[in-house]
Amino acid sequence: MPVESFLPAHRRVVTTLTGRHRPGPADAARPGRADTVATHVPVDRSIDLGWATMADPPRQGIEWRDGRPAGGPEAHSGVVRYVADAVVPCDGTVPAHRPGAVEVSGDVVVRVGPPGTLRSTGARVPEVRVEGALLPGLVNTHCHSPMTLFRGTGENLPLRRWLEEVLWPREAHLEPEDVFWGMTLAAAELLGFGVTTTCEMYFHEDPVVDAVVAAGSRAVVTPGVLQLPGTDGGTAWWDACLDRFADFHARRDGESGRIEIGFAAHAAYTVPLPGVVATATAARTRDALFHIHLAETEREGDAFAAEHGGSVPEVLAAAGVFDGRVLAAHSIWLSPDDVDLYVLHDVAVAHCPQSNAKLASGIAPLGDLLGRGLRVGLGTDGPASNNNLDLWEEMRLAAMLARLRQGDAGALPAAAALDLATRGAGQALGRPDLGVLAPGAKADMMAVSLDDPAFVPLFDDAMLIEHLVWSASSRLVTDVWVGGQPVVVDGEHRTIDVAEARDEVGRRAARLAAVA
Ligand SMILES: [Zn+2]
Repeated sequence: MPVESFLPAHRRVVTTLTGRHRPGPADAARPGRADTVATHVPVDRSIDLGWATMADPPRQGIEWRDGRPAGGPEAHSGVVRYVADAVVPCDGTVPAHRPGAVEVSGDVVVRVGPPGTLRSTGARVPEVRVEGALLPGLVNTHCHSPMTLFRGTGENLPLRRWLEEVLWPREAHLEPEDVFWGMTLAAAELLGFGVTTTCEMYFHEDPVVDAVVAAGSRAVVTPGVLQLPGTDGGTAWWDACLDRFADFHARRDGESGRIEIGFAAHAAYTVPLPGVVATATAARTRDALFHIHLAETEREGDAFAAEHGGSVPEVLAAAGVFDGRVLAAHSIWLSPDDVDLYVLHDVAVAHCPQSNAKLASGIAPLGDLLGRGLRVGLGTDGPASNNNLDLWEEMRLAAMLARLRQGDAGALPAAAALDLATRGAGQALGRPDLGVLAPGAKADMMAVSLDDPAFVPLFDDAMLIEHLVWSASSRLVTDVWVGGQPVVVDGEHRTIDVAEARDEVGRRAARLAAVA
């Protein structure tokens, strides 16, 4: 999203209780994030138990409610096994286990593999049978979700007019409750598409967190620093901004186990360089993510270079901005030297192909970025410039644009496109515990129906991945879990009153349009 926008079936589950399991060290929930994902345990693919074998064991008295065992973890071993027609782990090992199983303890995955390999002795393990494929929840690395309030407004206007006539006047009248409902409606949309994590950049940051926590979703929330029209932009103003965001970080980082707080400077062309440096320093001293729009449009770099005597990456790197955890959204107009600096400083990229295309910003050099080993994840950008939050569409367009740019029908194969929405996206956020189904990862999962023409014919595991990217879509997501908790069950939201959210956002958007 450019500066401008930023200113102010089905029939899933047969449940059984089966197998015997002796809890071991691997069952313990593993706190923390980046360094906690264990290496995936190789599995014996020769063991292939059919559905009949798995469904045969009799139910043994556990009551199920809303896709999980009633009575809480004390009612069973603490481990729940999800058995699906296929498990697509997205962990870089195998394309799929067909059938497959995922064992979850608390909010963490403890085992993944063919069902037979996970059987062990000891306490009873309740089993959730999932019809379809289990995948990790998708990870959206760049979004301004509360802008659901502005979806479809000012379409096709030249950028400057859109800002001055549509967006800024509305944002000037935003109340915290507006942002709460905007984020809530976005969370409903995201979860319905199987997107369990977003990296958010917006102001009114407290209601953003409130909404994510209430929705049962997960987010990395990076409040955006931006010098608004009318602010002096002096040292005292920046100090006040940073004090506020430092306090926000101290109060809410880690909340509910699903919130991470980072810092953002909107862009190098909208925030004075000392402000960018101070914000990045505040993030680095806390090992927090620093999030910035970078090289989104061709002209922004020219103006910056004229003022500062170097490209944005050159100047930011020299100023130490790239020394911490950095996520650079868009990153379209990069020179080879700029890419070298990204590599040198391990700068991650949020690649936003739909926003880049809709706003005619350009086609990012995705092949170059991945070829240099950079961490890249997909982002939808805000719903005022996309206009939906469907990361499945980003996968397809990312692959198509990469092929067009490179003139190569083999560029960005389906598995690589899926990686950008799952494991790659988690890594771009510095969160390898997201976007994978592997021991130690967060138990964020989605079930995708395979009972659809999109998956016919299906000859092998690699073909399953091709179908997921090229012929399936978000419409096939049936169930979603975040941290092991069901948030969408058989297509129904369990944490959000979607009708209420639609009504609130519609009403509030109308009020904002009327005052602006
Ligand atoms: Zn953006």
